[in-house]
Amino acid sequence: MTTRRNFIKLSAIGSVFSFNSFSVFNKKPAIKTSKKPVVISTWNHGIMANKKAWKILSTGGKALDAVEKGVMEVENDPTGSSVGIGGRPDRDGRVTLDACIMDEKSRCGAVAFLQDIKNPIAVARKVMDETPHVMLTGQGAKQFALEKGFKEENLLTPESEKAWKEWLKLSKYKPVINVENHDTIGMLALDSNGDLSGSCTTSGAAFKLHGRVGDSPIIGAGLFVDNEIGAACATGLGEAVIRVAGSHLVVELMRQGHEPEEACKLAVDRIIAKHENMEGLQVGFLALRKDGKYGAYSVYKGFNYALTNDDNQEVMIDVKYDRS
Ligand code: ASP
Repeated sequence: MTTRRNFIKLSAIGSVFSFNSFSVFNKKPAIKTSKKPVVISTWNHGIMANKKAWKILSTGGKALDAVEKGVMEVENDPTGSSVGIGGRPDRDGRVTLDACIMDEKSRCGAVAFLQDIKNPIAVARKVMDETPHVMLTGQGAKQFALEKGFKEENLLTPESEKAWKEWLKLSKYKPVINVENHDTIGMLALDSNGDLSGSCTTSGAAFKLHGRVGDSPIIGAGLFVDNEIGAACATGLGEAVIRVAGSHLVVELMRQGHEPEEACKLAVDRIIAKHENMEGLQVGFLALRKDGKYGAYSVYKGFNYALTNDDNQEVMIDVKYDRS
């Protein structure tokens, strides 16, 4: 039986042990903090998102506000078929949205399987700012959004409805992630205070099973930020990203000293190692380090991202592809 005295002894040993393990696993790497703002975001729609984010960053605003307001531009665009209004519905014809946000203090918020609300990223931010929780889902997330003053609206545009009816003819469940060049938007930003934040928002895989949630609202999978190291986000087949806790993996690889692009490549390698069949399985990662250095990598060719900093105004970068 553990006596009180033994218990105190054991706890003392425990605290020495955890102190040691803390110092081993949380050793501060020598990454210099840059105070030069930079923002990167996935795919071509990153251009419009970066433009908005840059207005905030270039005037001394916070990375957190930049990543929220930046991706909202894409959520509000009805012509985008994978984010916010206009996002392709699930196989039952319902548009369900996922999003998450994370800041420099490791605070985070997320919503998943949210319907009828156009700006899931803003709801995710409210979950972070105004509740003791990290994630709300489905009906509960919608109720919360309505209570916070968000408007209920039909997100299924005529174009999306047409695409869904076309899909129904064959009803083949095969998410096409690679060929459409306009998937999820993930955004990472560094502000003039040297702080990092990230956001990620999507309607998920088109014609998914009703109720399916991908990587995008899952902290550690679709997005991760550690203000001492860097930030990462993902796009592509969410199931594959979740299996390796992709964005967290990229940040931890940077912690171990890997360059941002190399960290993304190693995370892609991990996905390849964990999947027997890679046919059509596209995933892309973006990484932004505390010193302002950025990089990206994807399983297949065709991934690109938008970059904005003092020297580059909304430049698109095609991700290097050197896999045989
Ligand atoms: N990662 C998203 C998901 O699986 C989809 C995407 O990036 O296109 O929901």
